[in-house]
Amino acid sequence: MDILRYDRQIINIGVEGQRKINSARLVIVGLGGLGSNVAMQMAAAGIGFLRLIDPDKVDVSNINRQPLYNESDVGKLKVDAASQNLKKINSKLELETFPMKLDENNAESLIRGVDLILDGLDGLHERLILNKYAVKLNIPYIFASVQDAFGSVTTIIPHRTACLSCFMKDSDPMPPCAIGVYPPAVFAISSIVASEALAMIIQRKPALAGRLLVFDLETMSFDFVSLRKNPTCKVCGV
Ligand SMILES: [Zn+2]
Repeated sequence: MDILRYDRQIINIGVEGQRKINSARLVIVGLGGLGSNVAMQMAAAGIGFLRLIDPDKVDVSNINRQPLYNESDVGKLKVDAASQNLKKINSKLELETFPMKLDENNAESLIRGVDLILDGLDGLHERLILNKYAVKLNIPYIFASVQDAFGSVTTIIPHRTACLSCFMKDSDPMPPCAIGVYPPAVFAISSIVASEALAMIIQRKPALAGRLLVFDLETMSFDFVSLRKNPTCKVCGV
């Protein structure tokens, strides 16, 4: 292990924690504002393996909140640009890329074999599919969403905490991020996701397991909602 490279974080997480990070396998579904910023933090922290899933190409309108991409990436597939740029951050990072949209038919195979699922999606329908297979395969899933200056995050540990379907339905309103995104909200939420991810990996108690953090950066309000498993949940209920 490269102790010197990680010495500042080893003070916090210990050598054993760093070993766990180096051998962790993660999937990031969606490489927009949320996913791309989490990917950068995971690569920098020394995560061993990332599977990246996104069907889109880099657009010039992404760059204000997605610094993983730069002007020379415009027009490239996001998974390709992300891979090239993440390798510049950490050449030891192992990557797998899938330039496709997650759906009911491919979700199980796309998330199989990882330790943790990170959410960079922008629609509730895909998130509910992701949640369903996370519960089926018993893989923890960090749900996150951002819109304008608002963000919400929770860490879902299958069969221990509420799953996404326990408290959200496909019919619930959840506008796509095209409506507007305040860049600092993206950076804030991606850091919160990164912190929860590292906690899961080093087996420290994740602060957002079983509770939803909802914040608004315009008023700097941070609120927590306790989440209970719904015994009649179609995904995780008995
Ligand atoms: Zn559930």
